[in-house]
Amino acid sequence: MSNKRILVTGAGGFIGYHLAARLLKEGCWVRGVDIKKPEFESAKASEFKLLDLRDYDNCLEATEGVDEVYNLAADMGGIGYITSNYAELSRNNILINCHMLEASRVNKVEKFLFSSSACIYPLYKQSIPDVTPLKEVDAYPADPEPGYGWEKLFTEELCKYFSKDFKMETRVVRFHNVYGPIGTYDGGREKAPAAICRKVSLADSNGELEVWGDGNQTRSFMYIDDCVEGLTRIMHSDFSKPLNLGTDRMVTINELVDIVAKIAGKKINKKHNLSEPQGVRGRNSDNDKLREIIGWEPKIPLEVGLEHTYKWIEQDLRKNGRIA
Ligand code: NAD
Repeated sequence: MSNKRILVTGAGGFIGYHLAARLLKEGCWVRGVDIKKPEFESAKASEFKLLDLRDYDNCLEATEGVDEVYNLAADMGGIGYITSNYAELSRNNILINCHMLEASRVNKVEKFLFSSSACIYPLYKQSIPDVTPLKEVDAYPADPEPGYGWEKLFTEELCKYFSKDFKMETRVVRFHNVYGPIGTYDGGREKAPAAICRKVSLADSNGELEVWGDGNQTRSFMYIDDCVEGLTRIMHSDFSKPLNLGTDRMVTINELVDIVAKIAGKKINKKHNLSEPQGVRGRNSDNDKLREIIGWEPKIPLEVGLEHTYKWIEQDLRKNGRIA
């Protein structure tokens, strides 16, 4: 793999930053592209370009001379963000993905990996907390998350068409909640684990913490190192259909708060805010296909990953003078 020239789009963001760093460490030549620089550390890439990938010419520049593309760039955020920006978010992501696929074809990229999401799964399969884990085949009949989920599902289809019509090698990864250090934890785009770590860090012991919804909604969470490992394994598999990438340990959001409070050594009183969005009632990953195809699945325990994440967020808050 070390002689490959690799493009990571979204390299200024959470997963892209970590993936580029890992590929660079393995000896690959890595071009990182994003509309912004990484927020917390300098980019770990052989070359980093600031480009707006909604623009086709910029996608041509980004894909020039590379063998493989990990297309992670997307306008995205937590549930509050994705449910309040349907039109803009969908338009931005459709433009990025259409143009990135076409530019990769024109520049004869060998393999193109698209980062899809568990948000493509039908809402009618996620209506109770004790949900049946979602298999890849459950995607249809379609009823995904409005906006973000529809756009991801459409791009999955587009990858299929490019693969069929142009014999392009495509990979489609459906992430289930990724968390870890060196990622957004404030400002509205952060996801639940980062938001909870921030809130617990800022809370006094015996303090109050706002939870969106009644906290009984369930999810599974994957640590960033597992995510990066899974991405490279899927890229090097010969499987072009969508694959789940997540853990299959389901916890409630209330349990997530309790785990973080324990790590912090604080007693936290939850205050449930039922007027905030909470997303689907339950979601979990079925990893049978993943195990069958790559013989591996994410394994870093939630308590271990959250401890790293909490410590990093606490340290960053301290650095910025937000906690003593
Ligand atoms: P992120 O927001 O940290 O990273 C996405 C990056 O894309 C950002 O740095 C952003 O600036 C960049 N971007 C947005 N618009 C752009 C444009 N027009 N041109 C160039 N760059 C642009 O998100 P992430 O968590 O690292 O997610 C990476 C990918 O994985 C995304 O496609 C996301 O939809 C998908 N995903 C993530 C999760 C998760 O839990 N983090 C879950 C499901 C799917």
